[in-house]
Amino acid sequence: METCRAAVITEHNKPLTIQQVPIPKLDQGSLLVKITASTLCGTDVHRWHGPLGDGDSLPIITGHEPCGYVEDIAGERTDILGNPVKRGDRIVWSYVACGSCYYCAVALQPCICPGRASWGHNRSDQHPFLLGSCAEYMYVPKECLIIKVPEDVTSASAAASACAYRTVMHGFDRLGAIKSHETVVIQGSGPLGNFATAVAKDHGAKKVLVIGAPANRLEVTKRMGADGVLNLEEVTDEKHRRNWVRDHTEGRGADVVIQVANNLAVPEGLTLLRGGGRYLNIGAGGKANIAVERIPQEMLFITIRSAEPRHWLQAIDFLASRRKSFPFEEMISKSYKLEQINEAMAAMASYSVVKAVINFN
Ligand SMILES: [Zn+2]
Ligand SMILES: [Zn+2]
Repeated sequence: METCRAAVITEHNKPLTIQQVPIPKLDQGSLLVKITASTLCGTDVHRWHGPLGDGDSLPIITGHEPCGYVEDIAGERTDILGNPVKRGDRIVWSYVACGSCYYCAVALQPCICPGRASWGHNRSDQHPFLLGSCAEYMYVPKECLIIKVPEDVTSASAAASACAYRTVMHGFDRLGAIKSHETVVIQGSGPLGNFATAVAKDHGAKKVLVIGAPANRLEVTKRMGADGVLNLEEVTDEKHRRNWVRDHTEGRGADVVIQVANNLAVPEGLTLLRGGGRYLNIGAGGKANIAVERIPQEMLFITIRSAEPRHWLQAIDFLASRRKSFPFEEMISKSYKLEQINEAMAAMASYSVVKAVINFN
């Protein structure tokens, strides 16, 4: 059996190792993709530090944000728009829901399908081995929908659309229209916060205000179009942060608050929202047993998980069509080789980069 190199977590909190992992035989409809870029995500760091949720069974190939070239296809495939997929196409691809459970078929909420498949936490010593993105190749199951990447979108940005950016698109989809008189407050200035800043501006918000840290991330936030940023590390009193939002909104609070940091930010976030406003909760880390002083009247509280295949397409489309308006490449702050995976994971863990990318060429 042929093998390829992959960055593998063999023990939580211990350095990852570069291992040779088998390249599987393709089942009908599946693809083999030669990875060109894999961006890292906060979730990769959480998984490395300890098992998530039900617990991961090690060893796993880290990473779930891939972009690559089709190396091989078993049979004929089309992309999400119905165009044929060929060897050499540069693509990203969606997660897979079962399609036949209550959530998929009745509620039409496939992101909470219990039988959903995703990447970056699958055993690398069991077929089909290559389901993590920090590897030279990835296996793409036949159920995945394929999105071709236009030439003017870099592989690193396309890779980030496979998690961070498509999740933001899902959030805005559920949030609905933003009116031209509305002010949006974003809690968090990581990749999701910065991408959300661009989308909120693009969708017509009057003002986008971002509360985050550290300063290097907020510099990028400003260039993504934020009308105001507040550094959490400098303004440590919650009351002052609330007053800052009030000052920007004639004392009412924001029409929309988007949380892309951590569940722990929810109590403060609710105090930044006006009565009747909309709260979009995306950041899923941290305990959710949070105490809130009061809940704004007539508010909407929206939570989302991951994204549907169409949101992958929306994210890629946004990167391509808005590339002249927003400096998306600035969100990918540092590039590493596969051998430098531990350095890259440490940079993500310390927030010293907005997003790290493993480049394969
Ligand atoms: Zn992710
Ligand atoms: Zn299902």
